[in-house]
Amino acid sequence: MSDHYSASSSGNHAVVKGAFDRVRQSPTLGEVLESDELSRALLEAARWPQGPECLRCGALGAACKLTTRPGLWTCKSCRNCQYSVTSGTPLHGTRVTLQAWVSLFHTQEVRRQRPSVSQVSRRLGVSYLTAKSMLRRLDELRSEMPAMAERMRHHLIELSAGRESGPGLPPPPNSFA
Ligand SMILES: [Zn+2]
Repeated sequence: MSDHYSASSSGNHAVVKGAFDRVRQSPTLGEVLESDELSRALLEAARWPQGPECLRCGALGAACKLTTRPGLWTCKSCRNCQYSVTSGTPLHGTRVTLQAWVSLFHTQEVRRQRPSVSQVSRRLGVSYLTAKSMLRRLDELRSEMPAMAERMRHHLIELSAGRESGPGLPPPPNSFA
């Protein structure tokens, strides 16, 4: 079973809007950092600003969301692939939640902190080796996919700005401070 990436048939613009709206319409930074779905939407908007792009044939606007597993896409064009936002990236095959990745990236890129392996391990509740691997993989993401990393940073800064202008909101849940 599948459904189209965009419910609208008005073309590519709607696809772009769909990718952004899911992240930017209303959620706060805190909500994004607590939600796997919103964190995935942020990663998807950062990786595919024009909507999911088939990893196999490169088709744009041919992505269909599979309902079998969250975040899984297939391609109407080549009909023979399944991929997610982490496929083919340094985050591929991760067992860590997407909000943990986004949270660590936010700490580094927006809060400008450099948490140690031990701090990452403690704060995210992952093993020392996993924490070490996360720091290494995010370094790889920055060097191998700089445009995606820059868009992630940009979206997170916008979300941070939204949070600061809101009244009485709690501090970010994943602060390393
Ligand atoms: Zn394809």
